[in-house]
Amino acid sequence: MITFEQVTKRYETGQEALANVSFQVDRGQMVFLTGHSGAGKSTLLKLIMRMETPTSGRVQVAGQNLTQLHKKDIPFYRRHIGVVFQNHQLLFDRTVFENVALPMRISGQSEVEIGKRVRAALDKVGLLHKEKSNPVSLSTGEQQRVGIARAVVNKPALLLADEPTGNLDPELSQEIMNLFRDFQQVGVTVLIASHDHELIQSMALPVMTLADGQLVSFG
Ligand code: ADP
Ligand code: ADP
Repeated sequence: MITFEQVTKRYETGQEALANVSFQVDRGQMVFLTGHSGAGKSTLLKLIMRMETPTSGRVQVAGQNLTQLHKKDIPFYRRHIGVVFQNHQLLFDRTVFENVALPMRISGQSEVEIGKRVRAALDKVGLLHKEKSNPVSLSTGEQQRVGIARAVVNKPALLLADEPTGNLDPELSQEIMNLFRDFQQVGVTVLIASHDHELIQSMALPVMTLADGQLVSFG
């Protein structure tokens, strides 16, 4: 699903964020990405989202060489990737339903399809009964679950999460991880950037470790 071949990313500042990184994540795998702050985790995720391009090397996602992706095709490409953020980035001027519907509205899908998929996504995260609520009235854990529903509403083959449990206590973190497991079990590939060692150790998942831009272990 994801292949990095000798990928180096150097920003315009000269900062080398990734150095000669190679790895492969198979379809349906669930993998942690860890490493100290500044190790290159966000850069790696941005390369997968095609928000950055490598200075050298090759990034391939779902059989697609991202360097060869045309600019006009990037929004279509991103539709197949769900992204979960630490601070969930929900909009507080609209309902839970509308927050989850956002990616589908952007891709111009029909009202019937939106209603069906948004409710299915909210049901999966156990928040169907909150569809009319404003996210500001929800707990932190619930807000994060709305963020996850939004990330999966377009049925992405790949789910990326950047410190998804950063603001949550261990119990809620476990709950979020269980949700990711559910998506993995239906074939979604899940990549989770985290430096929550306790959580990582509790999960028995493959761990990719970056240090100063180098992939020091993957196992
Ligand atoms: P992490 O997510 O593991 O904290 P990042 O990928 O954000 O690591 O950063 C890796 C390195 O690249 C750091 O030294 C960071 O300062 C640098 N970096 C990240 N983004 C940029 C950017 N847009 N321009 C210049 N340097 C950057
Ligand atoms: P920009 O025009 O600023 O480059 P982007 O289109 O790259 O904006 O992305 C805007 C924000 O939405 C980013 O924070 C990005 O991570 C996020 N994003 C991009 N694609 C998706 C997606 N498929 N699902 C959820 N969030 C996404």
